Amino acid sequence: MCGIVGYVGELPAAPLLLQGLKRLEYRGYDSAGIALANQKGLEVYRCSGRIQQLEGAMEGGTHCTQTVGIGHTRWATHGKPSDRNAHPHVSGDGRFAVVHNGIIENYLSLKGELSEKGYTFTSDTDSEVVAHLLALLYKGDVLDTIRQVVARLRGSFALGILCADTPGCLYAVKNASPLVIGVTETGCLIASDVTAILPHTRRIIRMEEGDIARLTIGAATVTDQTGHPVQRAMEQVDWDVEAAEKGGYAHFMLKEIMEQPRVLEDTMASCLDQNGEVVLEGVGLTEAVLHRLRRITVVACGSAYHAGMAGRYFIEQMTGLPVEVDIASEFRYRDPLVDEHTLTVVISQSGETADTLAALREAKARGSRVLAIVNVVGSSVANESDDVLYTRAGPEIAVATTKGYTTQVAMLYMLGVYMGRRLGRLTVEQNAAYVRELRDLPALVERCLTMAEEARTLAETVSQHEHAYFIGRHVDYAVALEASLKLKEISYIHAESYGAGELKHGTISLVEEGTLVVALASREELVAKMLSNIKEVKARGATVLTVTDCAHRDMFRESDALLTLPVSPGTFAAIPMTVPMQLLAYYTALARGCDIDKPRNLAKSVTVE
Ligand code: GLU
Repeated sequence: MCGIVGYVGELPAAPLLLQGLKRLEYRGYDSAGIALANQKGLEVYRCSGRIQQLEGAMEGGTHCTQTVGIGHTRWATHGKPSDRNAHPHVSGDGRFAVVHNGIIENYLSLKGELSEKGYTFTSDTDSEVVAHLLALLYKGDVLDTIRQVVARLRGSFALGILCADTPGCLYAVKNASPLVIGVTETGCLIASDVTAILPHTRRIIRMEEGDIARLTIGAATVTDQTGHPVQRAMEQVDWDVEAAEKGGYAHFMLKEIMEQPRVLEDTMASCLDQNGEVVLEGVGLTEAVLHRLRRITVVACGSAYHAGMAGRYFIEQMTGLPVEVDIASEFRYRDPLVDEHTLTVVISQSGETADTLAALREAKARGSRVLAIVNVVGSSVANESDDVLYTRAGPEIAVATTKGYTTQVAMLYMLGVYMGRRLGRLTVEQNAAYVRELRDLPALVERCLTMAEEARTLAETVSQHEHAYFIGRHVDYAVALEASLKLKEISYIHAESYGAGELKHGTISLVEEGTLVVALASREELVAKMLSNIKEVKARGATVLTVTDCAHRDMFRESDALLTLPVSPGTFAAIPMTVPMQLLAYYTALARGCDIDKPRNLAKSVTVE
């Protein structure tokens, strides 16, 4: 998720790696480390905290004369940020050092296998299995060993590898996590993105999925998984550092919107086993605990609150329990009725949201079990909760959340399936059908992302308005809440959201000629009702933009504009419905010339009450 750099060449590697890691700091990280290689073996420095601390631990690195090395900034996904969990990880025999970005999904079974064979683990990370697996399979040919290891790994992984037996070589693997090679006058570099390479060269080679590279002072050889050499074109990048940080996108927000298929896959893979059962590792929601529950209370702020609203319908359906969704800043001032028969679910991307933390403490004090859904491993919310489910969105830099939000909704869906199954309310077949639909979500989102151009065109119209009303029924109401917040946050257009039937109970008085109404209509059984609500506002002169799926597009032909999503079974529609709304907000803000990644008056993590 975070940063890798590597160097092999004529120059001392340590200063170059430290500089490269600093260039990757913008990605967010909690720990850093470096491994260096020469004839005497491997030398490893690593610590939690900032790169300055690592520099301190290396005494500036000026005494390090090695010219080959790998560096890492970690953004913890498995195991808290700590010195022992920082990368590089070294095999027990000291032969291999590994830095890893991403998630090894099958690390538990590999860890079990390696432990049985006598390998000792010194960290809580998923990544450490790679170092031990290399040691286990090594017969003298490093590249061949790497290939064998890669064949056994599932998940997303970019790897930088050093082997003490070949101190002049740097190895790199790319699989669903970014990694590029830079070719300089003095040698070769690898990095998670070109920002770390730009000070040295503009000549880069983009590694493709499954590529394994062996880099030496004078050559970069890339092979595929079967060991056959592959030709990868040398590119001349003309990006400046700012463009490079955003992966070529104009803003972090757009980059993060586009990352959603991948991170949704990571999030769901982290709690699905091979048999298609939801497994929530380390979560103590046993059948006995679940059967004692009388209600579920979801507590969160902002978009996380909207995620709770979106997940609520499904969780109620799965558990047969009432699910309340509460704003964290209100929760503790209303003498909340939570007790030992209540499960309190708190949601926070950063895990440091002060209001959510306060609500969590209140719920615990009242005897409720607290389950947290957070993105940042080792955060305060995670530490203080009884159970934690981590979304795998990776660091989110744009202030307005996108991938953070959709992964929270996905996690609530997983939780719903899990509870339904444990409570005996879901048959094997129903479970399989839901899991299939969940697994299809990343591809569905991918297709929604192809609507970017349509969203951009519609944004031209939206950007002309100063007010907008988002309406929807059932889960589309929850989507409306998030869609209107997104628009407000970044484009500064006043936007409100209503249950579609509610508008006529007051606010419709504001609808006049040209008022913008965005109607969300994903629910098959509510299409007729939505049509009536659209007619109500059209009759008063509103300009209506309807978002629905292809199956219903004809029914909404009276709308002034239509955004049509691919058809899907729709149980988990909140996710695909939200994606075009993120794009619409983004392009509207762009058309209005707003500071998209850092909207006025907002902070990424709200640590005050
Ligand atoms: N999953 C790994 C860990 O938790 C790597 C995280 C990263 O990409 O920084 O250590």
